[in-house]
Amino acid sequence: MTDAPAGRGEPVVVALDVGGTGMKCALVRPDGEVVHAERHPTGAERGPAAVVDTILDVAEGLAGKARSDGLTPIACGIGVPGLVDDAAGVAVWSSNIGFRHVPLRDLAAARLGLPTALGHDVRVGGLAETRLGAGRDVGHVLFVAVGTGIAAAHVVGGSATTGAHGAAGELGHILVRPGGPRCGCGRPGCLEAVSSASAIGRRYTELARGALVTAAEVAGRAAAGEELAGRVWQEAVDALADGLATAQALFDVETMVIGGGLARAGAQLFDPLRAALRERITFHREPRLVAAALGDEAGCLGAALFALDSLE
Ligand SMILES: [Zn+2]
Repeated sequence: MTDAPAGRGEPVVVALDVGGTGMKCALVRPDGEVVHAERHPTGAERGPAAVVDTILDVAEGLAGKARSDGLTPIACGIGVPGLVDDAAGVAVWSSNIGFRHVPLRDLAAARLGLPTALGHDVRVGGLAETRLGAGRDVGHVLFVAVGTGIAAAHVVGGSATTGAHGAAGELGHILVRPGGPRCGCGRPGCLEAVSSASAIGRRYTELARGALVTAAEVAGRAAAGEELAGRVWQEAVDALADGLATAQALFDVETMVIGGGLARAGAQLFDPLRAALRERITFHREPRLVAAALGDEAGCLGAALFALDSLE
């Protein structure tokens, strides 16, 4: 953008956190302060090409908004779900949006005329929680997002490991209940098929033979002393503790930051989860289990931080 008032105005990063249903978008200062936020529907049902167009339009709109407010956009950061090749800037695969090898980083950089970084939604969320949130000042963190699915980011020294193929951290697909409920990936017994918010709601609904109930409602009924809800909740907590114990054997972290919808259950999740994890730990050190602090802003903040990292 040649009409940008280069060198004038406070610097901001254009940040987008693209989810299966909505996009959280913001202008973020380098210190992590959000100066402007907006939300847009993803419209995944329109197909991946239309979603890409929307992402580029929204990003361009945010950069324009920054300039008209007297700010200087210096970079763009985008977080997306699925398999992401951070180094190549490619959204490799996504089940809920349908991305297949979309070179989103270069498309956005070309449209905005700004250096752009593309990262995995949970990995950038983990980055934000580690630098600005519940995992601050901790060297080794596992950020675990438990919502409709389960995924994790292993953050060491403030940077999240990606794996050789962009697929590190798929904690939801650890096998915890062989022969158990079938996972979206096709295999029975994955952690995500037992302990995700959607799995908890599904399991309770199946056993109660009633109308569909959310995980939050199951938690509420369990707290009120309903036996079936209490059993479904405990089964989910036990399976999650199995998954976390495996993760601790692999990563030996100091702190596990639990985010996503399920973490909103607070003590009702954390008390039994800590107890169940403690039972499963032998010679490993028990990690500190804490709730995420940034809420659903984490993805946007993380995308901004990731973009700033890529400038260095
Ligand atoms: Zn699976």
